[in-house]
Amino acid sequence: MKAHDGMYIGGAWRPAADAEPLPVHNPADGSLLATVPAGGPADVDAAVTAAREAFPGWAAVPPARRAELLTRVHELLKERGEEVARTVTAELGAPIGFSRKVHASAPVAVSGSYARLAAEYGFEERLGNSRVLHEPVGVVGAVTPWNYPLHQIVAKAAPALAAGCTMVLKPAEDTPLVAQLFAEVVHEAGVPAGVFNLVTGLGPVAGQALVEHPGTDLLSFTGSTAVGRRVGELAGRSVKRVALELGGKSANVLLPGADLAKAVKVGVANVMGNSGQTCSAWTRMLVPEERYDEAVSLAAQAAARYAPGDPSEESTRLGPLVNATQQARVTGYIEQGVREGARLVAGGAEPPSGLPEHVRAGHWVQPTVLADVTPGMAVAQEEIFGPVLSVLPYRDTEEALRIANGTEYGLAGAVWSEDEDEAVAFARRMETGQVDINGGRFNPEAPFGGYKRSGVGRELGVHGLGEYLQTKSLQL
Ligand code: NAP
Ligand code: MG
Repeated sequence: MKAHDGMYIGGAWRPAADAEPLPVHNPADGSLLATVPAGGPADVDAAVTAAREAFPGWAAVPPARRAELLTRVHELLKERGEEVARTVTAELGAPIGFSRKVHASAPVAVSGSYARLAAEYGFEERLGNSRVLHEPVGVVGAVTPWNYPLHQIVAKAAPALAAGCTMVLKPAEDTPLVAQLFAEVVHEAGVPAGVFNLVTGLGPVAGQALVEHPGTDLLSFTGSTAVGRRVGELAGRSVKRVALELGGKSANVLLPGADLAKAVKVGVANVMGNSGQTCSAWTRMLVPEERYDEAVSLAAQAAARYAPGDPSEESTRLGPLVNATQQARVTGYIEQGVREGARLVAGGAEPPSGLPEHVRAGHWVQPTVLADVTPGMAVAQEEIFGPVLSVLPYRDTEEALRIANGTEYGLAGAVWSEDEDEAVAFARRMETGQVDINGGRFNPEAPFGGYKRSGVGRELGVHGLGEYLQTKSLQL
């Protein structure tokens, strides 16, 4: 695939200060797709400087003009949707159908929503004898992961630009190509030089340099809790804002009267999509004990339908994991689950059989269902980030709630019941940022973010815009 051998800084592709190339692999077959430059502290510094210089000008651009430029970004993302999908399939390994439906479409929706918000938002309000101005926070440092690579970039860049902030992005090492594509889009849309800057490179090098740089006003991070904690510490030290989108271990609660067949089918699909590499995935299915056997058998049958295969083929439903480290981590969890007493009812730690020859070198994990999981097991507490579902029985609704709330995470969840009011009442008591009731659809304008260790702050829609604004009160 074609890739830039420079960093997008100050409106141009510039050679890296230390031009060491970073390989980008196709996780389905291990082949080399391209190389991108590995940025270091000097590149990060150049990018932050460019963003600082561009800030006063961009902050002064009328919101209606920022909205026009974001509309152009939105249109270009739509026009280049097929290229986005193919790029994400190549570097992440997501099945092409899923890449089109999710990886390419979500950023179109999110950029469109911020184009509208930039035009409509009240950047000024009247409060008694005060005029309250909602001003951009300043220069944003953004660090993003590989699992929804373009969505996670746009969920930061679109509100930042709408608010009048400038930014420096360090995307994940595994998925830099779609980040370069986004920089091309921003450039082609006519966003002024220095407003959006891209530094590719390694987390502990380029990422760390960005997080430690004193020239940013907000750090927005999506990724693991371990790195997120460090970002939060550094932000606290220099008294800057921080937004953290971290991991999850979300509960899918099937209340006693739920439509079991539907709830299990949708629940399994939610975990297997993107090979389970979804922070908000419902990785714990909670089932009333009197319906437990039935649910386990339905889940095993549903999982078996996610046969791993070449992600570039239209019919494939399950791709590989993003890299060998993640594959080893996920199979390690499956083994640990079995050691701790879970019962394997689908899949397992061995590589899948029946893969076509040309993709056997990929990072494959079988779609796996673990039954008889108890709340204290590692597979019930820790984020696995793979196609692995844990099914837990519960005695009564109070116990279901205790189990659902019994992890350090609180990002998402689901509740199923024949009675929507009962499901909503249960959801109100869940310690989590998002709950889908009876399969409610993803809403790109609804606030997304975590309770507890799942993070700080909210992304998307008007709540996400607020993260990039600070207020000034003028008393008249
Ligand atoms: P990660 O290390 O937290 O990566 C997220 C981003 O942070 C990447 O851009 C990464 O760069 C960067 N990074 C890494 N170390 C850094 C540092 N010291 N300073 C600044 N930035 C740094 O996550 P991962 O290693 O890719 O995945 C590990 C686990 O994290 C997964 O198994 C999963 O549990 C969790 N995860 C959660 C989400 C989510 O959406 N909540 C997303 C991805 C991963 P590199 O890409 O170069 O490492
Ligand atoms: Mg990493």
